[in-house]
Amino acid sequence: MCGRPRIGILAVQGAVAEHERALRAAGADPILVRDEAGLVGLDGLVIPGGETTTLRRVAGDSGLIDALREARRRGLPILGTCAGLIALADDIIDGDATLVGGLDISVRRNGYGRQLASFETSLEIDGIGAGPMEAIFIRAPIIERVGVEVRVHATYQGHAVAVSDGFCMGLSFHPELTPDPRFHQWLVGCAQAYAKASAAQNKEGFGVRA
Ligand code: GLN
Repeated sequence: MCGRPRIGILAVQGAVAEHERALRAAGADPILVRDEAGLVGLDGLVIPGGETTTLRRVAGDSGLIDALREARRRGLPILGTCAGLIALADDIIDGDATLVGGLDISVRRNGYGRQLASFETSLEIDGIGAGPMEAIFIRAPIIERVGVEVRVHATYQGHAVAVSDGFCMGLSFHPELTPDPRFHQWLVGCAQAYAKASAAQNKEGFGVRA
C-alpha cells in the first residue's frame, strides 16, 4: 500500500495523546474517533485504557458499541490496552456484560488488587520483536482464561498479559507509556495488510471497508 495507514483512537474516555504520539512515530496517521461515523474508512483502531464503566455509560446508548462489534467482525485490526482489553473480552468475570467482545478470553477488572494497583515490570515478549519489554500496569485487568484460538505473547506471574487472535491484540498494560514501539508497530503492520486487502477487494467490487 502507499501512504500512512489511518488508525483510529477511540476517544470517548481515557488517555489518547500518548497513543497518538506512538502511532505517528510508528508510521500511521492517528484519527480521534468519537462516534460511529468516525469508524468509517479506518485501517486500524486503538481502544485505550481508562474506565470501562465510563465507556459503557458514554457509548452504550449510541450506536458506537454495535459499530465497534461490527468492525471487529469485519476483521479491522484492533489494539486494546487495559480498559480496551476489557472491552474486547468475550467474558468479564463478576457481573459486567460483554462490551465489544471478539477476543475469547475471560478477564477480571482490577484483578491485580489494591496492593498492586500500579506497578512496572519487565516482560519477555513472544512473537512481537525480540528482547524484553518494560510494562506499566495501572489498575489492570487480570486475564483468567485464554481460549484455544488465542495466542499468548507475554505472561506475568502465570497469567497472560498480552494476547492476540489474528489482527486483534489485547494488553493488560500500557505500551503507550513506555518508549518501546513494538505493539504500535504491530498494529501499523496489520493496518497496512488490511488496507491492501480492502483495496484489492474494492477493485473486484466487493467493498469490505464500510
Ligand atoms: N480499572 C479499569 C477498568 O476496570 C481499567 C484500568 C485502565 O485502563 N488503566 O475499566
